[in-house]
Amino acid sequence: MAREETLTLAARTIAKASRVVAFTGAGISVESGIAPFRGRGGLWEKYDPAEYAHINTFRSNPEKAWILLKEMLTTVSAAEPNAAHHALAELEHLGKLRCIITQNIDSMHQRAGSSNVIEFHGSFRQFVCLDCARSFETDELMFDLVPLRCTCGGLLKPDVVFFGEPIPTDTLFRAESAASTCDAMLVIGTSAIVQPAASLPFIARKAGARVIEVNPEPTLFTELISDCRLVGKAGEILQRMVAEVRRIVQQEGLEDSYMLKSPGERSHADRDTGH
Ligand code: NAD
Repeated sequence: MAREETLTLAARTIAKASRVVAFTGAGISVESGIAPFRGRGGLWEKYDPAEYAHINTFRSNPEKAWILLKEMLTTVSAAEPNAAHHALAELEHLGKLRCIITQNIDSMHQRAGSSNVIEFHGSFRQFVCLDCARSFETDELMFDLVPLRCTCGGLLKPDVVFFGEPIPTDTLFRAESAASTCDAMLVIGTSAIVQPAASLPFIARKAGARVIEVNPEPTLFTELISDCRLVGKAGEILQRMVAEVRRIVQQEGLEDSYMLKSPGERSHADRDTGH
């Protein structure tokens, strides 16, 4: 099918659906200048993130783990949300996106204006002491001397999920619950490799959702569960797709009654899972 036709079909699917969830990975932030792990220009070309970002490395050889951490922190702090992050924020404002489940730790979705974001792997906004569990806002820390240490002497770890660490139970529950109750899932810029995150589109598909993938490269999702793949960069594709969703929604009066309520009127459970 021609690319334009696929994009229109995807936009129509989103416009007609009533429980849309976006699942994003490092690829969505590439146009913000943040390198992904895999693919061209990926961090994997320099380091093995599964080793440098493994919790055992962080505990036993924090100097080594900090080489990757410092590079990521520097890049993320200089980055701005791109057209793809803004397009998803607009989709939420249009009443067509219940929540975003992101594997990213860069806070770009919130900075673009999305309000319902499940951060599956945590974020760089806080650091936590591995010994006394005291937490610190990233803004209040100095990074001249790393590894960072708490006043108690313990190692300070960014509040992100390292390889070898489990996903916090409440985060896993909220993400699985959003995936298992959506009727369309937009899967953007993820290689389908990191588990258990990569199982979420399978959960959505098993529950009957349409799976729309946005990625310049094919993935395991493409082969097994995607109804369609929009081939190319997330920024350009999502901008065009959301413009088309807006046109359809306005032309056909498909606004979701959920969004006609103000955020304050939605229940707590609604906000948590995006329902
Ligand atoms: P990944 O690095 O394994 O794969 C990136 C995917 O994005 C690839 O499939 C690639 O083809 C695709 N891609 C590249 N450029 C794109 C673009 N412009 N538009 C759309 N897609 C594009 O990413 P992953 O699957 O998210 O897994 C990596 C893990 O590393 C995640 O758990 C994430 O937490 C972490 N990570 C996060 C960031 C971040 O916060 N921005 C950056 C690097 C890694």
